[in-house]
Amino acid sequence: ANCSVPVVALLLTVFTARGNYSETDLIKRELSLAIERNQLQLYYQPQLDSHKALIGFEALLRWKHPAKGFISPEVFIPIAEKSGLIIEIGRWVMEQTLRQIAEWERLHHLGDIAFSINISPLQLMHRDFTQDTLLTLSQAKIRPERIKFEITETTFIYDQDRIAEVMQHFSGLGIKWAIDDFGVGYSSLKSISDFAVDDIKIDKSLIMQVFKNESASLVVQKTIELSREMGLNVLAEGIENEEYFEYLKNMGCHLFQGFHFSRPLPAADALTWIKKQRL
Ligand code: C2E
Ligand code: MG
Ligand code: MG
Ligand code: MG
Repeated sequence: ANCSVPVVALLLTVFTARGNYSETDLIKRELSLAIERNQLQLYYQPQLDSHKALIGFEALLRWKHPAKGFISPEVFIPIAEKSGLIIEIGRWVMEQTLRQIAEWERLHHLGDIAFSINISPLQLMHRDFTQDTLLTLSQAKIRPERIKFEITETTFIYDQDRIAEVMQHFSGLGIKWAIDDFGVGYSSLKSISDFAVDDIKIDKSLIMQVFKNESASLVVQKTIELSREMGLNVLAEGIENEEYFEYLKNMGCHLFQGFHFSRPLPAADALTWIKKQRL
């Protein structure tokens, strides 16, 4: 009877710990099985020029959970990054997107349509990234000019020499690089100019404030001016109505993406856009 108290306490501790998985732990465990369970899917959001002509798509990952429905990448990508699962998931995204493009390329006229793929910092920094990606590219037989990689400003907190090297390598093959969510991080266009960057994507939180917030509007205006001066393409994300489109176009922005034009679409609906474009 003397030792029963600690034993009970120990059992209680173990039991509580096991029975009390946090939501994050649960998502992590289920996410690790999502690929083999066929729960991941890619959606494609159209990107347009100032004449509203289709110039490309951004591939956006979707996780369809059997019980919880669609779980937002805003929720599961950070968990995948923390747990390291992002390497496997990123590889899957790369393979699937390139396979989809290859199929479209074979059956339809893609013209100059480009496809943007989001790359997490740890995925880019992974020692196998270059080799894996080159292999996947050559297997899919896709022109590198058709591919764009999107990275965020946070990427540049890691080993800058290595990042520059990886970017330069793919850039040399014809792949484009876009800086995603620009304007909310710490980096300046000047620091970015050391890297093989082609496009700046202004973060939607800034775009959505251009009518309400003078300093946001100023940041957007300066970003567009400087980017154009540096020969970079500027895309405004989060365009939700015609007013924003007109305003940003007048500010000198020339590429656009947002719900106003289209939400991210399943592949079959993206194909409708591709076909419409060729008429
Ligand atoms: P992101 O790369 O900045 O992607 C743009 C996000 O803005 C997408 O959210 C898109 O649905 C949303 N969006 C586009 N237009 C509008 C609009 O007009 N209004 C509003 N309110 N939102 C708009 P989504 O698909 O939920 O993805 C969120 C983030 O998750 C992405 O932001 C990206 O950081 C990450 N992500 C998504 N797919 C992948 C992936 O395959 N790999 C990696 N590493 N990250 C991904
Ligand atoms: Mg993106
Ligand atoms: Mg973005
Ligand atoms: Mg984002």
